[in-house]
Amino acid sequence: MKIFVLNCGSSSIKYQLFDMTDETVIAKGLAEKIGNPEGHIELKITNPKNKIEVNLPLADHSVALNKIMDMMTENGVIKDKSEITAIAHRLVHAGEYYHGSVEVTDDVVFRIQECNDLAPLHIPANIIGIRTCQKLFPDTFMSGTFDTAFHHTMPDYAYMYPIDYKYYEKYRVRRYGFHGSSHFFVSNRAAEMLGKDIKDLKIVTCHLGNGCSMAAVDGGKSIDTTMGMTPLEGVMMGTRSGDVDPGVIFFLADKEGGHQAVNKMFNKNSGLFGVSGISNDMRDIRKARDEGNKRAALALAMFTYRIKKYIASYAAAMGGVDVVIFTGGIGENVGEIRERSVEGLEFMGIKMNKELNNTICGSEAVVSTDDSKVKVMVIPTNEELVLARDSKKLYEEKFGKK
Ligand code: ADP
Repeated sequence: MKIFVLNCGSSSIKYQLFDMTDETVIAKGLAEKIGNPEGHIELKITNPKNKIEVNLPLADHSVALNKIMDMMTENGVIKDKSEITAIAHRLVHAGEYYHGSVEVTDDVVFRIQECNDLAPLHIPANIIGIRTCQKLFPDTFMSGTFDTAFHHTMPDYAYMYPIDYKYYEKYRVRRYGFHGSSHFFVSNRAAEMLGKDIKDLKIVTCHLGNGCSMAAVDGGKSIDTTMGMTPLEGVMMGTRSGDVDPGVIFFLADKEGGHQAVNKMFNKNSGLFGVSGISNDMRDIRKARDEGNKRAALALAMFTYRIKKYIASYAAAMGGVDVVIFTGGIGENVGEIRERSVEGLEFMGIKMNKELNNTICGSEAVVSTDDSKVKVMVIPTNEELVLARDSKKLYEEKFGKK
């Protein structure tokens, strides 16, 4: 059984083809600059290892997806597209409609469209991805997995904003949370690695990539998460601010050209990039700090301080913590960020194995000491595998085992 996992953005398509007999990745890649005369497609084949890249105009998602299929058939990844059993779409927002992965039907597309105002940058791209696949693969089963779904177990006192209740009733203004597949994957993997039942664990997951979010996972269920109605709330990110006093937004909207300009500033020119003035990339920030740049040093200090505050507050929310997990490009690769994010939390029972922590880059490990009451773990995330597994399950529920 081969499952094609797709993450469609407004100008890009990320894809992975899984062989579900052993959950291995057969091929993966990226189409970029869709809608641009200078489009680019990359195909990485696992066995024998090979990387193919082409530059060509990509008028729309359909052109890009057709070309990806051509590249996969020309290079022997698949004989033809009928070999693909199911397509799994990563979808950003389900509002309050869906609490798990679903088969994509017209009704589901309709519901996603209704959530458009909640994620106006992402939802149109998700729908284009679905519509394109419906044309190119008219007979293929399609599933959708929502970034928000894992957080549907948050209690109302965690997901409501302390504003006039009528806005929840009128527009469904509330906290939803994102990166759900990642928080789900790493928390379950941690339980597996520790040989424990996830029902017995209180876990804080820290997904630190370009976008950053954390979750409090109690007994396998998300009971709180840092991102809110949009992916702007919570910890500091690459270009997004995370938490700020809403008063700052009104102040700057008055001074700096209205809410659209400020919206852009909080999404694109804030976070590590905004504070350092250098880059949104953690590697550049650390290099600049090492060269004596004070604003890069400040950005790093703010980044880890805000993570630390959430770790402790989530321990309070769960009445304790057994495991803290780091994942995402930064969480998996940067020992310094892991160490500084838990610095001073010894009072909660966290003791880092600093030497080991500094050597771990992109692999699974327990980086706390053997006698640390709280385990600190590094677990590379695998959101695509979560999508592929859910798609397989839904397919088999509908058609039986293949
Ligand atoms: P996205 O949210 O776009 O999926 P990633 O999870 O790939 O992002 O994370 C991107 C971030 O991870 C960047 O800040 C990048 O600098 C950082 N990163 C990735 N690999 C490394 C590495 N080997 N060392 C340091 N930082 C890294």
